[in-house]
Amino acid sequence: MTVFEYAPAPESRSIVDIAPSYGLFVDGEFVDGTGEPFKSVNPATEEVLTEVSAASEADVDRAVAAARRAFTRVWGPMRPADRGKYLFRIARLLQERAREFAVLESLDNGKPIRESRDVDVPLAAAHFFYHAGWADKLDHAGLGPNPRPLGVAGQVIPWNFPLLMLAWKVAPALATGNTVVLKPAETTPLTALLFAEICQQADLPPGVVNIVPGAGDTGRSVVEHGDVDKVAFTGSTEVGKSIARAVAGTRKKLTLELGGKAANIVFDDAPIDQAVEGIVQGIFFNQGHVCCAGSRLLVQENVHDEVIASLQRRIGTLRVGDPLDKNTDIGAINSAEQLARIRELSDHGEAEGARRWQPACELPQRGYWFPPTVFTDVSPAHRIAREEVFGPVLSVLTFRTPDEAVAKANNSTYGLSAGIWTEKGSRILKIADQLRAGVVWANTFNKFDPTSPFGGYKQSGYGREGGRHGLAAYLKGAEK
Ligand code: NAD
Ligand code: MN
Repeated sequence: MTVFEYAPAPESRSIVDIAPSYGLFVDGEFVDGTGEPFKSVNPATEEVLTEVSAASEADVDRAVAAARRAFTRVWGPMRPADRGKYLFRIARLLQERAREFAVLESLDNGKPIRESRDVDVPLAAAHFFYHAGWADKLDHAGLGPNPRPLGVAGQVIPWNFPLLMLAWKVAPALATGNTVVLKPAETTPLTALLFAEICQQADLPPGVVNIVPGAGDTGRSVVEHGDVDKVAFTGSTEVGKSIARAVAGTRKKLTLELGGKAANIVFDDAPIDQAVEGIVQGIFFNQGHVCCAGSRLLVQENVHDEVIASLQRRIGTLRVGDPLDKNTDIGAINSAEQLARIRELSDHGEAEGARRWQPACELPQRGYWFPPTVFTDVSPAHRIAREEVFGPVLSVLTFRTPDEAVAKANNSTYGLSAGIWTEKGSRILKIADQLRAGVVWANTFNKFDPTSPFGGYKQSGYGREGGRHGLAAYLKGAEK
């Protein structure tokens, strides 16, 4: 096979201006937090990018008070059409400063610039545009005669799509007339703080959006705060369960977007080359740090060898390395902790008897890296078939009949997403109907759109984000 070499094509980082330290964004201003400061690193180099002060319980209390005041005095009473104008303004500012956001996201998170530039940032802007349009049309959203905002939303997000998850949380909350206290993840706070600048630039009234960086303790202060009306969480199933316990018995509304272990099902009549692209996109997009990643490949037995050979050939062409290089397909693992988890589960897979395959690939010396990995001979009982790896690791299982494919796909405690590859439309409809997964993609994978509700079954959580269903999660008197 011909190997094409590329000259490095790094995106310049000069467009971003990272301050030596950051505070919180409360009541329209940047203020120092009183919690223990923490560092955010570039996972591709281990370079410390900046220090961020964490929000203590008292800081969170101030943020919630600011959000309450803003809700009662300004944002709640505002004409919905005017709220919409602010959202349109934020969306346009995100587009204007898109390159800055993309570079900063890749620096802080480790994801390839190709993805932050072409996926994360445009989708974040699209979320604000979409919800801006709803702001003055909620009466016509089919959600009941008189939908009203809940009040203050406390929101906690993970590190895999820092800006995009912020957009998924903030845009629907604001469009429905709520105010927000949001806690970004501790390894990726920087684009949320840049978003705070956008809020200032958009003249958003103080207190409508508050950003409180910090780790799990700060998150707990947000979700357990007595004056929060709505909790929205995206993250691990373990933390999600503890939040569900903490919120149980209160008047708070709760939505949980948790883990996943999606089946990507390839039938023998599927166009194999296209399916291989979908498998690659399904598991290696964003280093596999994707809750809906197609991490369990279910391939029909009679095409197994052909699919795996073709898949390995394709994986051999993926470029792993500098996230800022425009040719990079797979960037850095987000943190040393996540890398340790991926290594532990992969080593365990081998110990359990699965066969590990990795392409020859040179990894950078510094930083956190893991090569694209395929496990064959995986049995449904293996931990790599059951647990979420949240990394570039694919487990391959086989099936003989459509019924067996469905049974194996549903044999999971999770139910976030699934993929089906076949030429037959009737089969797509029949199988999709039987899959216990919130999103089912057919002959494609990892496609996102703000109009389309996203969310899970079983231990993948409850509630939906996006579309009309997503609006309902932020409204009183809303019927789905
Ligand atoms: P995590 O649950 O450890 O952390 C997520 C967020 O919760 C972080 O901001 C963290 O600081 C905060 N947190 C931690 N403990 C908390 C507590 N007790 N109370 C309140 N907040 C707390 O998850 P992670 O490892 O950072 O993220 C990866 C997980 O997120 C994966 O399991 C993945 O599937 C899931 N995820 C789900 C979706 C979805 O839409 N379903 C999207 C992205 C990620
Ligand atoms: Mn970081």
